[in-house]
Formats: sequence, C-alpha cells, structure tokens
Amino acid sequence: MKQITRDLISTLYKPTKEDAHKGTKGHALLVGGSYGKMGSILLSSKAALRTGCGLVTAFVPECGVSILQTAFPEAMAIADDNQKAISSITFDFEPSAIGIGPGMGTEETTEEAFGEFLKSVKGPLVIDADALNILSGKREWLKRVPSTTILTPHPKEFDRLTKTHDTIEARQKSAVAFASEHKVIVVLKGAPTIITNGTETFENTTGNAALATAGSGDVLTGIITSLLAQGYQPLEAAQLGVYLHGLTADIAVSHTGTESFIASDIIGLLGKAFLRIK
Ligand code: AMP
Ligand code: MG
Repeated sequence: MKQITRDLISTLYKPTKEDAHKGTKGHALLVGGSYGKMGSILLSSKAALRTGCGLVTAFVPECGVSILQTAFPEAMAIADDNQKAISSITFDFEPSAIGIGPGMGTEETTEEAFGEFLKSVKGPLVIDADALNILSGKREWLKRVPSTTILTPHPKEFDRLTKTHDTIEARQKSAVAFASEHKVIVVLKGAPTIITNGTETFENTTGNAALATAGSGDVLTGIITSLLAQGYQPLEAAQLGVYLHGLTADIAVSHTGTESFIASDIIGLLGKAFLRIK
C-alpha cells in the first residue's frame, strides 16, 4: 500500500489562478439534511466553500432553508417541496460536482428520491452517510452509480454495504474488491483512512483521534466535493481531501489540543492546512 505523503500532495495541489473569479472555481452542490439533522449538510457546505470552490448550493428540505441561509450566508439554498425530508432532487443548473448524503435520513420518500437521482446523475459525485445507508438496502442501485464516483463510508457504513468484517485488514481487502467490482473509489475512513480505486490503494498519513467527533465525516464530504468541483480528478480529490482533513487535526494537536476539537474547527483550520502543503 502506498502512503499519501506531503510530497505526493504537493505534486497534486494546484494553486488558485491569478485571474480566477467565482464562476471559474467550480460550483459544488451538497444534497442532504432533514428535520433535526441540518447541521450535517451545513458543515459539508461550509467545508466546501472553505476548500476553495467558487460557489456552493445546498439542496435541503424546506425546513432547512432558513437555517442554512442564516448560519451560512455565503451559500445558496434550494428547497425541496417537502418540509422535513428530501422527496425529489431537482435543480436547474449544472453543478461542477455533487456531494450527497449528510443528514439526509433514510425515509421512504428520500430513498425514492435518491433512486431517481441516481438514474440521471452524471459525475463527479461523492456519496456519503445516509445515501450510503440507502444503497446498503438497495444494492441493485449500485449499477446506477457513475464510474469513479467517490464513496466515503466509515467502517460501519462499509460493513452495512458489504458484510461484517472482523479485522481492519479484511475490511480493507474487501474495499479494494468493492471498488474494482463497481468501478468506484472507496475512501474507507478510519485510523488510518485508505483510498482505493481497486487497482491502486493509498494510506493516509495525517489525522488523529481528535477527528473522532460528530460531523467530522460531513466536513470531509464537503472538502472532497469542493476539490472535484475545482477540477481535481476523483482519485486526486480523495487523496488531497483526506490529507487536508487529517492535517487540520494534526495542527490542532500542537496548537489547541484535541479534547475540545469539533467539526467546525476542521473547517476553521483548512486555511492553515493549505498553507502547509504549498
Ligand atoms: P464520520 O464517522 O463519517 O463522522 O467520519 C469520521 C472522520 O474522522 C473520518 O474521516 C475518520 O477517518 C476520522 N477519524 C475518526 N476517528 C479517527 C481516529 N481515531 N484517528 C484518525 N482519524 C479518525
Ligand atoms: Mg459520516
């Protein structure tokens, strides 16, 4: 297994062009949220903009629009017709990349909406959290997932999607086989996180237990979606995203300590993480 080192990351990183404007830096669409779980998609959306894409739109149930627009004025919001959970995913622009799943819930109406969404979606795409949980019960929909889509399961989500694994090694082996069979990229989160496209597998070298906190994975989804929106290739976006996400926690350890670290702090430290990879 190859390591995702700072040297590798430095070769991937592309600085913002001098003549950039918000229309040339990519438009990320984050789809998710449900009543009582709006924080997840809010964190993903904020992380996306802090990672450098030019525009972020969040697609959320009606109840989430004012929450999102108040807590995060830089983002645009599209309201689903349904009040508490997503019931039909429609939008009238072409996003540069889509991240779907954080806080979305697994209500039947949301499940149906996700199934329809998969019929027409074109990449680049990140599938996380409840979108993965829905896929676990509808494995036949894996055929609809565009190739090189990035799936970001934590170990329990991966086991739901496949089978129970007794060891980390067995789960990692399974992730490689899964990525190869479904032609996707699996970011198997954990300590350490591994990234595989079925042919090559990489182990991340940043991050620590400070990341074991609510919303941490939602932030990662926003980061990777943003990198895809900016034109990074899926494998590169996964590598760079996971590395930067972990690096924020490493910075926190030496500056502010780990105990009080929360997901919003990951977002707040992204700027410092970018400075370290230049
Ligand atoms: P989630 O469970 O979806 O919120 O994702 C948790 C995120 O935090 C993933 O990116 C994990 O890799 C990371 N994480 C959680 N616990 C640890 C740990 N003990 N060491 C390193 N990374 C961790
Ligand atoms: Mg998660």
